[in-house]
Amino acid sequence: MRLQNNSPPVSDLLKFMKYANKIMGFQWTAARSDKSTELFKLNNDLKKCRLCTIAELRHNLVFGEGDPNSDIMFIGEGPGEKEDLTGRPFVGRAGKLLDQMLSSVGIKRESVYIANIIKCRPPGNRNPSNEEISNCTPYLKRQIEIIHPKLLFGLGKFASSYLFETDAAMGKLRGTHIKKDGIIISCSYHPAYLLRNPSAGNLFIDDLKKAIKCIE
Ligand code: SF4
Repeated sequence: MRLQNNSPPVSDLLKFMKYANKIMGFQWTAARSDKSTELFKLNNDLKKCRLCTIAELRHNLVFGEGDPNSDIMFIGEGPGEKEDLTGRPFVGRAGKLLDQMLSSVGIKRESVYIANIIKCRPPGNRNPSNEEISNCTPYLKRQIEIIHPKLLFGLGKFASSYLFETDAAMGKLRGTHIKKDGIIISCSYHPAYLLRNPSAGNLFIDDLKKAIKCIE
């Protein structure tokens, strides 16, 4: 007597697996495109923004760029000359240095998301004013909500003060971390500072490695 085989034929199983892959793949693509669509809409809203007087001087709004599904989001200060001309964050000398720093810890720039505290260039690369920061950070907040990374890493004093909600000195904040809304927040020096103080480069790398460990 032979035992009855109740299993479905292999061809049916293969069909089912293909179907499941299709469904799951579709969901993954949908989630991915939802974030991109939301960011696209936010970017379009921002292009109309004239809340600060510096909006009249901008060549391009610098919204941010990168992988919206990344676990890591970097926040810098504001666009410089090259960023204003190209509409992309961190593309000048400081940006090149940031790319090198990322690659030294095994991170490709295109695998993270990079944005700034303010989206229009302050003339002469001056510091962003309190008014500009308070006008622009609601947009950044929304950007963070959409991306919802595991790690938010502030670059320099302005981004770090905003993320940590404190006026504490950079020397005290760097290398530390807090957790807010399920996101690890950490920070280090701005790459422009590292260009002027190359010896701080190792500290930056240590801070970044420490922060990444928190989300592994
Ligand atoms: S800095 Fe931000 S809030 Fe100010 S005008 Fe530009 S986009 Fe608007």
